[in-house]
Amino acid sequence: MKYVDEFRDGERARGLARALCAEADPARRYRLMEFCGGHTHAVFRYGVPDLLPGNIELIHGPGCPVCVLPIGRLDMARRLVEKHPEVILASYGDMLRVPGSGRRTLLQAKADGADVRMVYSVSDALELARTNPQRQVVFFGIGFETTTPPTALGIVEAQKNKLQNFSVFCNHVLTPAAMGAILGAPAGDSDTVAIDGIIGPSHVSVIIGSDAYRFCPDRHHKPVVIAGFEPLDVLQSLLMLVRQLNDGRAEVENQYIRAVTAEGNRRAQELVARVFTLRERFEWRGLGEIPRSALALADAYRDFDAEHRFAMQYVAAEGTKGCECPAVLRGSKKPEDCALFATACTPQSPLGSCMVSDEGACAAYFTYGRFRQDALAPPGQRRGVHGEVRKA
Ligand code: SF4
Repeated sequence: MKYVDEFRDGERARGLARALCAEADPARRYRLMEFCGGHTHAVFRYGVPDLLPGNIELIHGPGCPVCVLPIGRLDMARRLVEKHPEVILASYGDMLRVPGSGRRTLLQAKADGADVRMVYSVSDALELARTNPQRQVVFFGIGFETTTPPTALGIVEAQKNKLQNFSVFCNHVLTPAAMGAILGAPAGDSDTVAIDGIIGPSHVSVIIGSDAYRFCPDRHHKPVVIAGFEPLDVLQSLLMLVRQLNDGRAEVENQYIRAVTAEGNRRAQELVARVFTLRERFEWRGLGEIPRSALALADAYRDFDAEHRFAMQYVAAEGTKGCECPAVLRGSKKPEDCALFATACTPQSPLGSCMVSDEGACAAYFTYGRFRQDALAPPGQRRGVHGEVRKA
């Protein structure tokens, strides 16, 4: 197949769904985590759960960088712009709307006079630095392995051009470390969820390659299938996982062969290895502190490290009362288990990170689940995204 329409073909999707129904063993459950928030949105946007047999459960993972950033890191950015009027904070749009401590957002800081600007890329932030030589421009670098190479390139360019009023507040995090933390969580812990297999991320895997997940079968005996973002990709990946589990196999398989190789993008990996170094530990919302799970600027680029330049300090902070984002990110709760879901918390007025981001599970449930299922519910009732009837 070549064109995107072909990956959304309804007849082929029904064929894959029939194969899943035929091959899923009714005597067992299949608890499959889609690690990446992009897959969560694809799953709901295309109605994948409606096509699955009841014993295949999709568990939404922490693969949304905006969602997993802890409140303490957001507070650092807010304190930076409040304390340093000379700073222009350049950030992707999602970060501006995530509530920090006291439910304050960077957008509110902007309304109060801080210079916070939305950018689409690190190049926009570099341009701000070039055109505002009397100001300090700090780029709010965030993301998994997909967005790390562009940030690295921005830092290299700033050094090459002696752009001394540019720096990066680095919050880049690592997918395999988070996967390892989820798979290594103690069995039976009420805070964790049992997982039989993982749908591996698409874009991240283009950079790190499928070999990066070998530890999942080798150490944890769990299969991984790297999947593309289209509905047929997801369905085919589920079928590949079901077949592995039925056969008692645990392997890394690559469904997304049109973009992902075993070794990944070596040039991008080398660039990232040169510009960044591993942090000893980093706190993730919902997953706690994970050793060697995030990046900081390497010594050779320390002059461009905003944390160093502005002596920024991390202080752990409490989440919004009642917000279940930590449990949603661990996969141990669904968005609908949160009492604030679709009542106090909506995409227009989010109380937690999972409702803000385009890749957040709560945003996916709200956008693609609630209203569709409500329309199917009897009067006075509403349906959950898996069709269960609940009180309205
Ligand atoms: S619905 Fe809102 S408050 Fe509840 S878990 Fe999701 S983001 Fe947090």
